Amino acid sequence: MSLSPKLHSLDRDVFYLAYPIRSIFTSAVHCCVKPSLTGIVLEELAAFLEKRGAPSYRAKQITDWIYKKRVASFDAMTDLPNALRAELTAEFDTPNTEVVRVLGSKDTTQKFLFRLRDQNLIESVLIPASPALYGQPSDRRTICVSSQVGCAYGCKFCASGLDGWTRNLDAGEIVQQLIEIEKFCGEKIDNVVFMGMGEPLANLRNVLRTIRIINAPWGLGIGARHITVSTSGLAPQIRELAKESTQFRLALSLHGATDEVRSHIMPVNRKYPLKVLLEACDYYVAKKRRMTFEYILIAGINDTDEQARELAKIARRLSAKINLIPYKTVEGLEWSRPSRARQEKFQSIVREHGVVATLRREKGHDIAAACGQLRLQTNRAAR
Ligand code: SAH
Ligand code: SF4
Repeated sequence: MSLSPKLHSLDRDVFYLAYPIRSIFTSAVHCCVKPSLTGIVLEELAAFLEKRGAPSYRAKQITDWIYKKRVASFDAMTDLPNALRAELTAEFDTPNTEVVRVLGSKDTTQKFLFRLRDQNLIESVLIPASPALYGQPSDRRTICVSSQVGCAYGCKFCASGLDGWTRNLDAGEIVQQLIEIEKFCGEKIDNVVFMGMGEPLANLRNVLRTIRIINAPWGLGIGARHITVSTSGLAPQIRELAKESTQFRLALSLHGATDEVRSHIMPVNRKYPLKVLLEACDYYVAKKRRMTFEYILIAGINDTDEQARELAKIARRLSAKINLIPYKTVEGLEWSRPSRARQEKFQSIVREHGVVATLRREKGHDIAAACGQLRLQTNRAAR
């Protein structure tokens, strides 16, 4: 099988089984591209400067220009010597992620379509006054960022995976989604969720680097507890995350409480069936902290009483809270959301088993809010 840059739906399952996912997904996609200005980490920059004989205080001076004053080029860093500016310019790429479309209004969910330096499109969503879905305080501005262009995991209900996976985003491209949106709306973002396009744990190295930058006091200074990473269930990477000292949150997209249902809608479950996945989660919860479950309710697929009972069992085992999310329709896909009565019944069964479950009154349904939809529509219109 040749490894084409785009994996189309038919290739996906074969791809999971035939290739060790991490080694491919973390490979250097940008082998010929310079590291990005907004992906700079203070300690690495300090080492870089030390080698060149520059004084150590320069590193903090530069990260202040990038992350506090938000300049987009080294030329704007007026207190640096010209020679150093030129060296840095030769070493790092300046930000070139451009907002090309914004949908929604200031007081509702807004969706941003970005064009990257290689013309690929990604999306981010800004959710004002988010309810406390992942344990964070409410009434805050949450941004939902993409971590990859497309997604290789091909969940049957999701728009992000419909055109396959193209490439990983580097840390600079993820950080830029935040910087650009703060610039656009003129307000500070308080919460970050990795729930846009892509599977963050398949791009773990860059995602961890991003978290470092957005969490650090020299970076964007967003508290770790206000950062949530969502995964479709990559068991080995969940175990790896247990070793991370930063206290960001983890959300597991479960969407099926038995192997039969989960494998039907999430091909990743064939690679990491529930037994393997939940053992990794046990390990994570024992080593680190609780996780949250996301469970999309899809009519006639995963919304039965039996699934609710099984889901409650799993949640109890891991002391997890559950966010129930009514399915958002995706153009061209056959799935639909259950009636409100069915959604509430499902929630009440889970609650009867002593589990905390919220039922989301979803935002942004009218603006192609399910992850990957806006990009899909734009790409398809262009074709
Ligand atoms: N790949 C990661 C993170 C991105 S997806 C993951 O799967 O967790 C973020 C969340 O959006 C996931 O819970 C995903 O299942 C959910 N999602 C995808 N398509 C959706 C849709 N059409 N309606 C509602 N939620 C959806
Ligand atoms: Fe990828 Fe997550 Fe969408 Fe599944 S739900 S296709 S893992 S982005």
